Amino acid sequence: MKTVLIGVGQAGGKVTSSLVEFDHDMGFESVRGALAVNTAEADLQPLSIDTVLVGQDRVKGHGVGGDNELGAEVMQSDIGEVLSALDGRITAEAEAIVVVAGLGGGTGSGGAPVLAKELSRVYEIPVYGLGILPGRGEGAMYQVNAGRSLKTLAREADATILIDNDAWHSSGESLEEGFDSINRSIARRVGLLFASGEAVEGVGESVVDSSEVINTLRSGGVAALGYASAEADDDADTNVNVVTSVTRNALLTGTSLPNATKADAALLVVAGKPERISRKGVERARKWLEEETGSMQVRGGDFPIDSERLASLVLLGGVERSERLEEFMRQAKEAREEAQRQEQDREETDKLFQNDDLDSLL
Ligand code: GDP
Repeated sequence: MKTVLIGVGQAGGKVTSSLVEFDHDMGFESVRGALAVNTAEADLQPLSIDTVLVGQDRVKGHGVGGDNELGAEVMQSDIGEVLSALDGRITAEAEAIVVVAGLGGGTGSGGAPVLAKELSRVYEIPVYGLGILPGRGEGAMYQVNAGRSLKTLAREADATILIDNDAWHSSGESLEEGFDSINRSIARRVGLLFASGEAVEGVGESVVDSSEVINTLRSGGVAALGYASAEADDDADTNVNVVTSVTRNALLTGTSLPNATKADAALLVVAGKPERISRKGVERARKWLEEETGSMQVRGGDFPIDSERLASLVLLGGVERSERLEEFMRQAKEAREEAQRQEQDREETDKLFQNDDLDSLL
């Protein structure tokens, strides 16, 4: 699938750069254009892709400090600048636009849904969100911001692939130390998915096509991506179990949204040397995916690449009824109620002391 990527905010810009780098290193050429948009000048400087600074009149290049309402306002007022920076980048060959953002912050959280809405209005091709959920250990503000942002992004984009920041995070590292490695994991997995329909080598009936990615995401709402790989034998006949077990691992332990297995549609992409991909294994893995996801729409295809390993990518479309997502939206709502209670307490305390006849000590 030929894509144009737009990263909004700090995480959005960094993840977009990692995706560009991965696509370039692998020689896939599925990323046809990339842009990073931010209100914070310092976050744009280290990026090696083209950038647009928005909201200069409001925040003077200093960012919105976690205020996603301000992030949304700024994107709305400077949307013309962003759209003109994209002019000429979204050519006739582009098959999808992807808006990438961390949903828990300010600029990306508020800006991504606004941008997705405007892009959908202007362009015919699908506009997808690639949204990063804050880890469980991040504060209440991040959870509330992400809940509100996700609700809006899922409505405005044609589909939103969600990545939980706890999902591809190696143990023993703090979330922040781990960002670079998480970003590389995201780039590898999402980059492979985007490139999977672009295979030139071994074009044949079983090779996955971009339209299958688009059809899997057609049910809209929230999508998730699973990935796992393993060493494989030279001979396809001995790899039946390798294919079935990497597919199980991709869905059960390697997913971007843990515990989200019920889906409206799914796509299984098996990547590796074509002569090593067991047809029997692929058939079994697809059957298993139908049972596990409860979906009768499980598509499948190969992605021929020159690798010693076999990998499974499992794209799930329409996972919004999953337990993980329900739990996340419930927590975001509770965090918002708690923040409102604290605000009320503060106001009452202020009132109590304002009308006091006593002089304060200092
Ligand atoms: P913004 O610049 O105001 O949009 O805010 P950020 O992009 O920093 O968004 C904050 C959220 O994104 C938090 O939930 C962070 O955990 C997450 N985040 C920040 N930087 C990165 C990064 O490089 N990689 C990943 N995966 N998440 C990040």
